[in-house]
Amino acid sequence: MVFVIDAQTRLLCILGNPVYHSKSPLLHNYWIEKFGLNLVYLAFNVFDLESTISGLRTLNFMGANLTIPHKIEVLRYLDSLDPEARHAGAVNLILNKNGNLHGCNTDIYGINQTLPIKGRRVVIIGAGGAARAACEAYEKNEITVINRTFQKAKNLERVFNCTAAPLKNLDAAVAKSEVIVNATSIGMFPHVDETIVPKKILRPDHIVFDTIYNPPITRLLMDAESQGATIISGIEMFLHQALKSFQIWTGILPDCEDSRRVLS
Ligand code: NAP
Repeated sequence: MVFVIDAQTRLLCILGNPVYHSKSPLLHNYWIEKFGLNLVYLAFNVFDLESTISGLRTLNFMGANLTIPHKIEVLRYLDSLDPEARHAGAVNLILNKNGNLHGCNTDIYGINQTLPIKGRRVVIIGAGGAARAACEAYEKNEITVINRTFQKAKNLERVFNCTAAPLKNLDAAVAKSEVIVNATSIGMFPHVDETIVPKKILRPDHIVFDTIYNPPITRLLMDAESQGATIISGIEMFLHQALKSFQIWTGILPDCEDSRRVLS
């Protein structure tokens, strides 16, 4: 298949800051080429989200993904929202429906595909877009949200069935939890030696899910594995949220195994 850009080509993109670590262009352009679609997927490092969203409208983009730190702010610039995205207060996907910018959240789907759990004691570290998606996905669990900025964790108590706690209570929250979700950016490339959870408090019966996917195995996951815990890489969440995003834009759900090979 020859990949041709012409006057009919529609644009997709990821908006983030920083965004240069993103594997979304690699994966989406692989699918675009594989299915012979007249689309291109780009990455933009965005400082001014409002004018960027206005640019998506003006240039008639087909859609966009959102990543750090734009998933919450973007809500105010959109015309409509999926009920799940509205409730979570976070959007990672925009679909341009004839000029109407519609917000969805495929991170929730990605989390549910990666680690479906019910009736567990879960600690979610972070209170940004990824943490909101995790709270939505894990609503049938007993959730404690821990965040550096305590007020942001507290805000989640009003939306989700969860308990907020400050970062200084991390050890106690981890001690009483079965599942630990890192939804902060600590440990993400290039700060790969950092971790938010001290190794000594991790146990063999813990399930540790790091939403970070670059690197695929973070320092937190290495520590957890060495303590005998079960580890889940953010690469699976990334893959599933991307598959769902592509399906929303194009109607095509690519093969999961084939796509996983592209990321490895
Ligand atoms: P975000 O909305 O900007 O939230 C970032 C969170 O990290 C906030 O809770 C922030 O705390 C916390 N944080 C940042 N630096 C910190 C530090 N030095 N000490 C303590 N806490 C710190 O970002 P996001 O969109 O939720 O993304 C968070 C992580 O999830 C990223 O690593 C991203 O790669 C990952 N993610 C992965 C996927 C996937 O598909 N695998 C999808 C979405 C997100 P404050 O509130 O105190 O600032």
